[in-house]
Amino acid sequence: MKLNGTSSNTPSDNGLKANGVHLNGHYNAQAVDELLADEIGEAHGASSIDTPMRPDAFDLDDDLKIDLIEEHFREIMSVLGLDLTDDSLKGSPRRVAKMYVKEIFRGLNPANKPQSTLFDNKFRYNEMLVEKDITVQSYCEHHFVPIIGKAHVAYISSGKVIGLSKLNRIVEYFSKRPQVQERLTVQIADELKRVLETEDVAVIIDAKHLCVSTRGVHDVNSSTITASYGGKFQEEATRQELQRYLAQPGVTI
Ligand SMILES: [Zn+2]
Repeated sequence: MKLNGTSSNTPSDNGLKANGVHLNGHYNAQAVDELLADEIGEAHGASSIDTPMRPDAFDLDDDLKIDLIEEHFREIMSVLGLDLTDDSLKGSPRRVAKMYVKEIFRGLNPANKPQSTLFDNKFRYNEMLVEKDITVQSYCEHHFVPIIGKAHVAYISSGKVIGLSKLNRIVEYFSKRPQVQERLTVQIADELKRVLETEDVAVIIDAKHLCVSTRGVHDVNSSTITASYGGKFQEEATRQELQRYLAQPGVTI
């Protein structure tokens, strides 16, 4: 953090003064920006429920995006001083570019959203359905490192049911983006409500953030739990029923 510049920029006092950015009666704009960015990253707050995307996000096709990211990632490696003529490294820029576009950030593209077919609830099953321990592999949008954990989703049918694997697919789709866990939780819940035509949807995510465990505070033990309870799940009895199911030991076969 640079603290030797001068700026007459004086943002309102939002607590940054206590962190030593207040210099000679002036705030240092760059230092303030940097500190604010760090704090946003560590706080893991989302600025909006929708993933912030530009309107022209899909003007470029996947192949062109891969070419451009390859070029830029090569530049990043080069700036770090890595020798890109080395056999082990020379393919990395293209590998990373393909991985970004085709795998770990494929959920940015609405074209990859799973199509959810609904079925009539012929069994007249009107109780809660819980799909627990769904694998979550997402990526922190502040540090671009993995968020790994489990999602539990539950709904009470409004007359329609959805294929079980679609629940996994919806979790996976929204996970494959730069994310914050709170937004991921709400995006999954909103999509399930839309598809299932009911507010009676709950989503709980318990995940480890590699930006917390492998850098920063280096806490390898903590995990983060977020939850969205809609409709009947806001009632204490329904919520407790869900908690009871989640507390049961998993089935092993
Ligand atoms: Zn992070």
